[in-house]
Amino acid sequence: MTEPTPPQLKPMPDDWRRALAVVAHPDDLEYGCSAAIAQWTDEGREVTYVLATRGEAGIDTLAPAECGPLREREQRASAAVVGVTEVEFLDHRDGVIEYGVPLRRDIAAAVRRHRPELVITLNHRDTWGGVAWNTPDHVAVGRATLDAVGDAGNRWIFPELTERGLAPWNGVRWVAVAGSSTPTHAVDATAGLERAVRSLLEHRAYIEALTDEEPEAYVRSFLTGNARSTGERFGGVPAVAFELFSR
Ligand SMILES: [Zn+2]
Repeated sequence: MTEPTPPQLKPMPDDWRRALAVVAHPDDLEYGCSAAIAQWTDEGREVTYVLATRGEAGIDTLAPAECGPLREREQRASAAVVGVTEVEFLDHRDGVIEYGVPLRRDIAAAVRRHRPELVITLNHRDTWGGVAWNTPDHVAVGRATLDAVGDAGNRWIFPELTERGLAPWNGVRWVAVAGSSTPTHAVDATAGLERAVRSLLEHRAYIEALTDEEPEAYVRSFLTGNARSTGERFGGVPAVAFELFSR
């Protein structure tokens, strides 16, 4: 007996100029989708990163006061590798991000500042598929991002943002969720994959604490393995998958 073949993924929409990526931690985008981001910046699109935390609780052997600034530097370097120069931090606390009104307000403010057509985030569901449990920070930030694109467009939900000069922005047309176990769309990763490897490698302190494997071998096998298996549903080319929510 053979498994049923899952349906092919559709190409991501390309009639947009500006994207905003909102995730919980340094490295979330690099593990999730930076080959797609390299492809998009190559095409002249603008992509901005917003991180809810500095990932200061991410390295067991390093106290948060030292870890936060180190991971911020690694994140800025890894963004630059894929053509992203603007990286913002919302200063929520790593590991205990709470889904709620303050988080929605911070993300809505970022959406109004940057006025993207496409918003990218990381898996907001309880698991990565099957029984691989997700972390509460990813769930909180992913859900709050899906919600905040609506908040950003409504002048009455956070009137204090309008008073700060942030006019409502109702121009987000899609939210693309990376790392979803039920993807619908994909981007060809052929051109961006090598830079995705370099980009994730910039999180060197984090990776060295995470694994005994040689960092480049670990990063390359993780990212190329994912791209290849996604490609089985995208015409056989290495690819990065997203679950796309249209608005
Ligand atoms: Zn994370």
